[in-house]
Amino acid sequence: MLIDSVAFSSSSFLPCTSTDLTIMRRVNDPLCPLCKEEEETSLHFLRKCRATINIRRLHFGVPFLEPSDLKQAHWITLLRFAKATKRFQ
Ligand SMILES: [Zn+2]
Repeated sequence: MLIDSVAFSSSSFLPCTSTDLTIMRRVNDPLCPLCKEEEETSLHFLRKCRATINIRRLHFGVPFLEPSDLKQAHWITLLRFAKATKRFQ
């Protein structure tokens, strides 16, 4: 689904990652545009992107999230984190 030139994944409340957009053939490079260290997936973005360590620490209290942290995180906290990264502007 496209809203104002931003693609949203049908399975997530988060805007599409580079990997999603590569599959949709909207971008050619699935690499994370923030850290350029690995493929950008939703899990990479939320849990372990090194470019957003300080923002993650501010919102979750830790630099990296474990899968169990994600399960316990409130959706509004995840949304605020995503917004603070300015990744999807
Ligand atoms: Zn990254």
